[in-house]
Amino acid sequence: MNYYSLNKQAPNTTFKNAVIKGLAPDKGLYFPESITPLPESFFENINTLSASEIAFEAIKQFVSPDIPEAILKTIVEDTLSFDFPVVTLNDSISTLELFHGPTMAFKDVGARFMARCLGYFNKNNTNEITVLVATSGDTGGAVANGFLGVKGVNVVILYPSGKVSAIQEKQLTTLGQNITALEVDGVFDDCQDMVKRAFLDEALTSKMQLTSANSINVARWIPQLFYFMFAYKQLHNTHKDLVFSVPSGNFGNVCAGMMAQQLGLPIKHFIASNNDNNVVTEYLKTEVYNPKPSVQTISNAMDVGNPSNFIRIREIYKNDFKALKENLSSFSFSDEATRTALKELHDTFNYVADPHGAVGYLGCKAYLKEHPKAHCVFLETAHPTKFLEVVEAVIEEKQALPPQIQAVMGKDKVATKISSYEELKVFLLK
Ligand SMILES: *Cc1c(COP(=O)(O)O)cnc(C)c1O
Repeated sequence: MNYYSLNKQAPNTTFKNAVIKGLAPDKGLYFPESITPLPESFFENINTLSASEIAFEAIKQFVSPDIPEAILKTIVEDTLSFDFPVVTLNDSISTLELFHGPTMAFKDVGARFMARCLGYFNKNNTNEITVLVATSGDTGGAVANGFLGVKGVNVVILYPSGKVSAIQEKQLTTLGQNITALEVDGVFDDCQDMVKRAFLDEALTSKMQLTSANSINVARWIPQLFYFMFAYKQLHNTHKDLVFSVPSGNFGNVCAGMMAQQLGLPIKHFIASNNDNNVVTEYLKTEVYNPKPSVQTISNAMDVGNPSNFIRIREIYKNDFKALKENLSSFSFSDEATRTALKELHDTFNYVADPHGAVGYLGCKAYLKEHPKAHCVFLETAHPTKFLEVVEAVIEEKQALPPQIQAVMGKDKVATKISSYEELKVFLLK
């Protein structure tokens, strides 16, 4: 598969090149040249397929011929070494739990898949690749864990000092090996700005191959389409008219769901559930796309004022507003509503959600009011203990830490403090 840049000012390129570069030379996001639906028999027989068999069939066309099939099978199996269970709450609502991976955030799958692809592409290469990533919390941990020990790839993570949770900081700073954490004296936007500056700095890019590991990278974005197929497999015999509510920030996850639908997966509708960062909710109301600075909420992984993947969604619908609106609804919810939802999920269904999942649950409820016959699946994108303070305060119940979290809490943090772009540059060049 070749990929084109959504800015249309750069040559089309291979999957391999798109993964190594991250962003096209014209700063556009890469998008696959074509999407060929899977045969109907694939969906009819989905119950007989394992998670890695489903994933392999679904992603094959997007990576071929750059990764041989036998290697791709191993990559997919290694990536998906944990479960993706659906929990049904009642006749109308289920949740798909995406937090059973090593860092307990849904970003684990994309990070693990991308790491293995880069490792394969770079196995005979003596030039190392440096993955540079800014994080407000979950991305850093998932990327650090996914890339740990991958030969030929160094990972440098920038995080804002004092602005990530204690658990998240441990997940970023305790791994060692090819992972380095830089603790930035500033906020997330400062980390992001430094990373962007580095990608444009020829003094750096002439000396090293830099790439990104957020959802602009096709190898992190596309594997997320597996989730929707895993949910379909578990639910399609008992529930028709499946609708997905996706807690959305950069809109990579919901956009991947739309790719699954393009592959033929019978999905009736998508709901992009937002916190107070509601650019897309407003867009679907007014047809005016008006990015804003982000505001801080308790579902902080969705505090995004200008979602980078929304341009890919527009591309899927060929910029046809009406077609997009028929397939996507969006609602936005306050922190207060989110807390009430956490409590309701606990008291009514005995289900402990995290704040992001709770926003997804609210999206389901809003949609079901108008479409009572649908079955709505909200994605649970992080384990509730990653947001311990918020969750325990609302449901008034102590939560036990899962083994993945306990394992990092006892380790010692190692991070290098920096406070300017110049210091980042010195660090990268040494
Ligand atoms: C990243 C993240 C999201 C948002 O996903 P996007 O693909 O950026 O829309 C939602 N919930 C959690 C817990 C996340 O880490």
